[in-house]
Amino acid sequence: IVILGIESSCDETAASVVRNGREVLSNVISSQIALHTLYGGVVPEIASRKHIEKINVVIEEALAEAHMTLDDIDAIGVTYGPGLVGALLVGVSEAKAIAYAKNLPLIGVHHIEGHISANYIENKDLEPPFACLVVSGGHTHLVIVKDYGKYEIVGRTRDDAAGEAFDKVARAIGLGYPGGPKIDKVSKEGNPNAIAFPRAKVADSAYDFSFSGLKSAVLNYLNGCKMKNIPIVQADVAASFQKAVVDVLVEHAMHAVEEYGFKKFAIAGGVASNSALRSAMEEACKKRGVAFYHPSPILCTDNAAMIGAAAYYEYLAGTRSGWDLNAVPNLKLGER
Ligand code: ATP
Ligand code: MG
Ligand code: FE
Repeated sequence: IVILGIESSCDETAASVVRNGREVLSNVISSQIALHTLYGGVVPEIASRKHIEKINVVIEEALAEAHMTLDDIDAIGVTYGPGLVGALLVGVSEAKAIAYAKNLPLIGVHHIEGHISANYIENKDLEPPFACLVVSGGHTHLVIVKDYGKYEIVGRTRDDAAGEAFDKVARAIGLGYPGGPKIDKVSKEGNPNAIAFPRAKVADSAYDFSFSGLKSAVLNYLNGCKMKNIPIVQADVAASFQKAVVDVLVEHAMHAVEEYGFKKFAIAGGVASNSALRSAMEEACKKRGVAFYHPSPILCTDNAAMIGAAAYYEYLAGTRSGWDLNAVPNLKLGER
């Protein structure tokens, strides 16, 4: 089964051809990062317009790279939520048009199911059940993948998402947008123990997260330095902040792995490409005899190969979307 995956939920226009859920024949991503950098973040209206400009080109490229035409495609998978409504609508409309014209099955995919499914691509032996930490720009979910397409969220953020915290702190210390990769890079030159930032606990849950207190602690620290005329060492602030985030993510994830007795653990989403998080998780899993899975960085951030992978397993489960498929900006994981 060959699936054309389409993704346009935020600021990446992407298309990919994926065979049997795990073999990526092409993976084309047109990022708008440079465009939005001007404004310090994603401007929804600009994102939608850019998606319209790029979507056909990106799909054509994906087919060409796979040495295929639409006649070789068996089904269309497309992200229909969550995300920016105007951005999502571009991919959804395109997918519906192609599926209708070529009489192909249409499969609406949850963006976070896509992020999780990115793990299947390079880890051919990975099969559910396993535990997965989803850390992206808009989500921080501790998920139990019970089966393909079957998820239970056991922990979530009460406020900011992990990626959002990275982006906000990066802006505060003058690194600019997008913050995650920049903090990752400068942290390598900094001391992660230089500043004692808080590791927030959520009173009534061992699995939930909270990052807004940490973000405030960084802002307070920066203001304090300015008032007392203490020089700010950017790399130390970045490394100490990053360590605080990583510590909490590792602790909660490993708690879940132990409580539920999983021998397989995966990470997913843009923040899953963070080098400090990857090595800390690797070590924590090794210590517990747990197999650790993670996608390559290019499959962690938004792409359409992960949508093709997720769509394949939905296809096998019999999921089909109608011509009334619509963008659902606040779609919940596991809902249709
Ligand atoms: P969502 O998937 O929740 O809808 P999104 O699609 O915008 O949100 P992703 O593309 O999955 O998010 O990830 C982008 C986020 O990942 C950004 O917040 C970015 O700063 C963060 N990120 C990317 N690379 C790194 C890194 N190396 N270290 C930390 N964070 C990173
Ligand atoms: Mg993005
Ligand atoms: Fe994403």
